[in-house]
Amino acid sequence: MSLVSKIAAVGITAFISFMLIQLVSHKLLVTQNLEDLENSFALRELQHSQQYLNSQLNQVEILTTDWALWDENYEFMENMSKEFIQKNIHAPSLEAIGLHGLIWINKDRTLRAGIMSDERFSIIPNLINDFITQHSYVVNLIEDINYSKTGLLIFNEKIYLISVHNILRGDYTGPSRGWLVMLQIAAPELFDSHLERLDTKTTIAPLDLFTNRDSETVTPISTIKIYKEGQSMTATKHLSDIYGKFNIALTSEMPREIIKHSKDTFNQALYIQLVTAATIGLLSFIYLRQQISSPLSALIRKIENAPSLEQVSISKKELQRDEIGRLKRILRYAIDKLNTHIDDQQKIQEEHIKQGQLLFELANNPDLNAGHLHQSFYKILSTFVKNSECERATIWIMNKPLTTIECYACYSESGNNIPNGTVFQTNMLAQNFMHKLMNQRTFTTHLDRDVAQDLTGFEVSETAILCPILVNKQMKGTLIVEFQLSHQKAMESKELFLASLSELCSNSIYANERKKLQEQLNHMAHHDSLTGLPNRSFFNLLLDKTIARSGREKTKFALLFIDLDKFKPVNDQYGHAIGDQLLIKVAERLSDRLRESDTLARLGGDEFLILLDGMDNQFDSKFVAKELLDVLQRPFEINEHIIRISCSIGISVYPDHGINLDQLIIAADHAMYQVKNSGRGALSIAETPKTNVNS
Ligand code: GH3
Ligand code: MG
Repeated sequence: MSLVSKIAAVGITAFISFMLIQLVSHKLLVTQNLEDLENSFALRELQHSQQYLNSQLNQVEILTTDWALWDENYEFMENMSKEFIQKNIHAPSLEAIGLHGLIWINKDRTLRAGIMSDERFSIIPNLINDFITQHSYVVNLIEDINYSKTGLLIFNEKIYLISVHNILRGDYTGPSRGWLVMLQIAAPELFDSHLERLDTKTTIAPLDLFTNRDSETVTPISTIKIYKEGQSMTATKHLSDIYGKFNIALTSEMPREIIKHSKDTFNQALYIQLVTAATIGLLSFIYLRQQISSPLSALIRKIENAPSLEQVSISKKELQRDEIGRLKRILRYAIDKLNTHIDDQQKIQEEHIKQGQLLFELANNPDLNAGHLHQSFYKILSTFVKNSECERATIWIMNKPLTTIECYACYSESGNNIPNGTVFQTNMLAQNFMHKLMNQRTFTTHLDRDVAQDLTGFEVSETAILCPILVNKQMKGTLIVEFQLSHQKAMESKELFLASLSELCSNSIYANERKKLQEQLNHMAHHDSLTGLPNRSFFNLLLDKTIARSGREKTKFALLFIDLDKFKPVNDQYGHAIGDQLLIKVAERLSDRLRESDTLARLGGDEFLILLDGMDNQFDSKFVAKELLDVLQRPFEINEHIIRISCSIGISVYPDHGINLDQLIIAADHAMYQVKNSGRGALSIAETPKTNVNS
């Protein structure tokens, strides 16, 4: 389990715990407080109503006492004065003092007079008498009363505030004349003007009206009950009637809006907190389950905690778990991919090895090293074509001014071939194209196919790789390999091989150029730069060889030493350049006259040597020398100058005049000087030495 997961786990647990504590404490404290508040409202209203009821009772009692002690009242009971009745007993005046009933009862417990405004009793004594007889409350009450009594009374299913008093003289003298009973209906309106809260409704009613709501047996102990139903609540107190029986219920009913609203708001806040906590908890649980208790995590932990991998035992059941099954599938897929990749890499590696072998063989090919371009290029191209799906491989070698392309090609199929080394002449358009090609010093697949086709006559494939051929950082040409469109994949992993092949082309071109240079240097070392004739050292080599061969074969040959006569004056007269031209022309004329087997060399200045091979007698050599004299006799025309010149020739013959190089040259030289001394323009044979030349 990572550090982040640990921190997350601790954090989330703390958060959820905090939320739960908050939830419980709020629920307990706030709910209880609201409950208490609500109850106290109800109780206070109820208490208040009761207090008011008591004060009203007092009021009725005071009134009753006043009336009972009123002398006129006393007299009325004595005399039945009609005036008194007319003056005092009528309903409106009764209601004006808040009363609803007034009854006079004789000492013998008969009704003297009475009025009940609410019941529409008239003062007709009989009716009231009947009423009193039917409802024995009042009569029973009187029996218990000595002086006065006040209380609540259920009368005709209504609650009355009732007060009974002995009718006495105002000064308390004389006997009691009867009883005065005063009644006031405890209607709901009674409480209206004294309510603490405007929305409170107070009712007073016989208890049996409430029994359907509260079926409990009412006991004096549980006289207060608070009901909460929906939007309202009711506090009820059971009151005792005038006989001390708990028959009356005083109720205070008020709406619960404020409390309900507070509770709802509080509950909403709680729900939001709960839902938030639950969501966070659920998400955390999913996350932690993933981290801690997922089968995969468990397996990883198992492997991590094991001292060594060998000791890890994984049951089949563990491996079959969905998550691990998925992982297995992913791993299998990855392994398959890896295997394919390894296969591909192996193929590429094998191909590289094969390419390496081919390159090794090519690098050791004598034609490549000898700089034989035709053979080398053919070998390189055919190697590539045979070992790849290449359709055609071509080498284009351009000359420096880009006026020609030398083309070498190898095809995978025979036919349609152009002969190797075919040289194409380029036009202006082609030269631009060649110029671009020559600037392309890296691999490219871009080729101006139309121009290439115009130039060489063959269509270049769209899938081609062009590989530059550079010798000493100078572009010499391009190696182009073409594939069929369907073999596009074959182009892959070929670049290194192609680069090596182009390197081999470069080497071959380099070897070829070196060979040419070497030949040139050799030529320069053995030839006279002015006339192109063999020089003294080369001539000496040939002479040595000829001496050796002639010695072995016992044959003869002649050596002619030629010096032009009065050449210096030609230089002086016409200049050195004309002198040079004359030397060249002399060399040409002499060469033209000689046979293939003869060798003409220039020793330097105006001196030439001629080796006449196979001259068995002096006559023959004299003959040739004579002819040479004649050849030079003819005038030379150089830059509109007519120049005449002659030469002096000395002849020595092997082995007559010498058996080695020095002897023969000296002998010929002497013979030539003899001619000079005797007038020039002639030939002379060397003198035969007196001593044996062999000694
Ligand atoms: P002679 O008849 O006695 O041979 O007299 P000559 O004038 O031919 O003089 P000589 O053979 O003694 O000298 C050869 C001259 O050829 C000397 C030099 O001025 C000239 N010479 C030597 N090498 C060259 C060359 O390469 N080019 C030219 N133009 N003149 C050369
Ligand atoms: Mg000379």
